[in-house]
Amino acid sequence: MPEIKLACDCGKVQGNTQFMTAKSGNRLTCCCSDCQSFALYLEGLGRGNAEPILDQFSGTDIFQMPISKLKIEQGLEDIACVRLTPKGMYRWYSSCCNTPIGNTMAANMPFIGVVHNFMQHQTSRVDEIGKNRAYVQTHEMKAQIPSALKGSSSKAISRSIYKLICWKILGLNKPSPFFNLDGSAIVTPIILNK
Ligand SMILES: [Zn+2]
Ligand SMILES: [Zn+2]
Repeated sequence: MPEIKLACDCGKVQGNTQFMTAKSGNRLTCCCSDCQSFALYLEGLGRGNAEPILDQFSGTDIFQMPISKLKIEQGLEDIACVRLTPKGMYRWYSSCCNTPIGNTMAANMPFIGVVHNFMQHQTSRVDEIGKNRAYVQTHEMKAQIPSALKGSSSKAISRSIYKLICWKILGLNKPSPFFNLDGSAIVTPIILNK
């Protein structure tokens, strides 16, 4: 079964995904200002010589998958969370080395968008989770993305919504490494005012 190794840059936080392939998840690059703010927040905390979070178009390469298929095997105590507004997405990262982990909605939603920095591919990213399907939320960005790379954001978003509905029906919001059974987050999120 395909299993992708997960680790923060310093190696304290580690885990894996289960049964995840290009078909079972959804790889896309998000250019929304919130994803950019999250990346800038972590870069501001200091990431040393770690691989940049944003690409040359200020996009974040993420892999959307059901939260119950993501396991954290060590370093749970080093996980932190930030929200850009009191009702914003939960944006998880490792406090040991400020590696972005992924973005989730509330505990009842079966979804995480895992940020590329947290995935340690054994072969290659394309081999394990496929090509980037599209750049999405591009209206907020300054740089023009070449059409060969851009893909169809409406197709990619429709696919996300379809997957989310399937995962919801299958009850894949539990178990979650990031939420307690009562739906509260495992750590108190830091609320940033943009
Ligand atoms: Zn770390
Ligand atoms: Zn985004």
